[in-house]
Amino acid sequence: MPSIVQPDVNLIWSNCLGIIKEHVNQQSFKTWFEPIRPIKLENTVLTIQVPSQFFYEWLEEHYVGLLSKTIRRELGSDARLEYRIVMENSTTNANTGGPFTINMPAKKNNNSNYSNSKFSDSKKNKKSNVKNKSEDDSIRNPFVIPGIKTMNIDSQLNPNYTFDTYVEGECNQLARSAGVAVANNPGGTAFNPLVLYGGVGLGKTHLAQAIGNYAKNNYENVKILYVSSEKFTNQFIDAVKDNAIPEFIVFYQMVDILIVDDVQFFADKDRTQDIFFHVFNHLHQSGKQIILTSDRPPKDLKGMEERLISRFKWGLTTDLQVPDFETRMAILEKKMYAEGIELPREVVEYTAYFVNTNIRELEGALIALLAQGSLMKQEVDVALAKKILKNFINNSAKNISINFIQKTVSGHTGISMEQLVGKSRKREIVQSRQISMYFAKQFTESSLKNIGREFGGRDHSTVIHACQTVSNLMDTDSDFQQTVFEIEKQLKMNQ
Ligand code: ADP
Ligand code: MG
Repeated sequence: MPSIVQPDVNLIWSNCLGIIKEHVNQQSFKTWFEPIRPIKLENTVLTIQVPSQFFYEWLEEHYVGLLSKTIRRELGSDARLEYRIVMENSTTNANTGGPFTINMPAKKNNNSNYSNSKFSDSKKNKKSNVKNKSEDDSIRNPFVIPGIKTMNIDSQLNPNYTFDTYVEGECNQLARSAGVAVANNPGGTAFNPLVLYGGVGLGKTHLAQAIGNYAKNNYENVKILYVSSEKFTNQFIDAVKDNAIPEFIVFYQMVDILIVDDVQFFADKDRTQDIFFHVFNHLHQSGKQIILTSDRPPKDLKGMEERLISRFKWGLTTDLQVPDFETRMAILEKKMYAEGIELPREVVEYTAYFVNTNIRELEGALIALLAQGSLMKQEVDVALAKKILKNFINNSAKNISINFIQKTVSGHTGISMEQLVGKSRKREIVQSRQISMYFAKQFTESSLKNIGREFGGRDHSTVIHACQTVSNLMDTDSDFQQTVFEIEKQLKMNQ
């Protein structure tokens, strides 16, 4: 056979990346493909290096189809992929073929930088369409202690809440883009008011303030004011006491960009709502920007006047959702980068994977890791992280053992423990086995490999297949779904 010149591994991989990039979103690409290093190409076997076991499993679970298609496109139908996994102190190979033990020095991958340069070189004095209004010395500023007169409106913004520090993800894409549009043209877009809603700790305050900070840093003579609805309410109560309602209204009507946080606290406060209604109308009519946040969509705001709710709907209402795993990783990495700290990739993955409620919790987890790590004068590894983060991980079902899952499923379906880990291919046995594997993946911290081992020495791809089958069936078969839910309930109750 004539000898064929072997193509360059880097070139091949870079072609692959080109294809992959078109099929996944930017964040996933950054998280899962940029850290991959092409190692070698032998005939049609491409070896890539990945930073951790978890990373490898994630690729196998989510991107195996895309990877193999891409590689076959580049290297022909015989193409095969092998992984090399960087462990803390060595590397091992993972593949669907035989065992390997190649040792390599430890290597960390922590060069991800998710900063968004668009906002980092903001220029001063950019022209805004927000007009400057002359100031009136006689107006009382409710933010100022009585007796001290000043009309410089302090924006009350936290300078750290910027777009730069706000990581973009699918969970906040629309809200963030709307925020950027509003920041670039306050009062001049259709997004007025801009209403950001979502659960606690999902970034409403940060995003609303990022708009304010952008305006503050880029436009001169623009009066920006951030106020929580509680503070607004208290100021109003004071104004009532002091017979100063007109001043209170006039003060708020001078603002060019008004940010009111957590408007749900206006509920049942009729007089405050009344005043806010006037302020809102005035600002809106004068082309001033209003930004509101709420913990629920306007239509679900109870105890709120209908006319206010209908005004909230005039502009754009958009929600912030719980960030997905990739975004949680990006947020952790960004915060670590900002603080100049490093944690092993596995610890970051562990944290991002299990602390999945909201971003405030995620930040809390990171702080706990750092604080306790330094307190114990010990480098934080996954074992220590597990201990430290116990309180943060809300799904206590994570402590369930595989054995317990098998017992529960067995009790529910009547398939014996021996059958669950045995060889039988009978349909109902396979199904119970797959449900057990699915829960093992969901409720334990075991790797796919370990789960496979606990089910009669099956390999990780069987586990992946089981998880996929179960979630597909749950989507299409409601009886099956019901069964799975019932087992889940039982697992959670009896743990
Ligand atoms: P909310 O107002 O919705 O309760 P916050 O805006 O106070 O939430 O956010 C909670 C914490 O999470 C803040 O410290 C904030 O800086 C951080 N945070 C929220 N969203 C992001 C994001 N997309 N990127 C980086 N940090 C974020
Ligand atoms: Mg908030």
